[in-house]
Amino acid sequence: MVSSVPESVRAGVLALQGGVAEHARMLEGLGAEVALVRRESDLIGPDGLRLDALVLPGGESSTQDRLLRLLDLAEPLRAAMAGGLPTLGTCAGLILLSAEVLDPAPGQGSFGLLDVTVRRNAFGAQLVSTEAEFDVEADGVAGLGQCGAVRGALIRAPEIVSVGPGARSIVRRDGHVLGATSLDAASSSGGLGTVTGISFHPELSGDAAIHRALLNVGATR
Ligand code: GLN
Repeated sequence: MVSSVPESVRAGVLALQGGVAEHARMLEGLGAEVALVRRESDLIGPDGLRLDALVLPGGESSTQDRLLRLLDLAEPLRAAMAGGLPTLGTCAGLILLSAEVLDPAPGQGSFGLLDVTVRRNAFGAQLVSTEAEFDVEADGVAGLGQCGAVRGALIRAPEIVSVGPGARSIVRRDGHVLGATSLDAASSSGGLGTVTGISFHPELSGDAAIHRALLNVGATR
């Protein structure tokens, strides 16, 4: 499915650590204006929020969590997302967004903005990581449903072990929930909610469906 994204959506990619460039390329390919977010001023300017949408990339969630706090970025980022900035977290990014993290590194925290519990490294080591097609749930997201499946890579991926009342699952594989989105005003029309997290990496597989859905939420804010 090729459908374009409304022009001049400003998409940020958190750029402290991890797979930043692949997300930036994918968002640019969809026509977004991309900004790397490394400090508060990348997020907020004199006129308020500089972004319409945000991606938290994969990498190492405990490192990202530490850097966010060291750089005083955790609180402004949390406030922006809690205030409605449409956000997609992949893998480590999903872990950062989750309400509860099982098997955290010592001292590791999370934003608690997506009502799910995740287990880090649930599918084993990098060696057993895999690339595969994932089903998009039948009652899934507008715009994704037509795809039938999303392609992505699992790399030391977290599993969503439970989905609370504030979220719904959107991607499953072999009985495992690999993606969820928040239930809120943004999702009421059947699209992604304000906060979405996925265990896998579509940006490594060239599947832009979820990024496109994110930009569509960003365009309608
Ligand atoms: N296992 C990593 C973590 O806990 C996530 C891996 C990834 O982002 N590909 O942060």
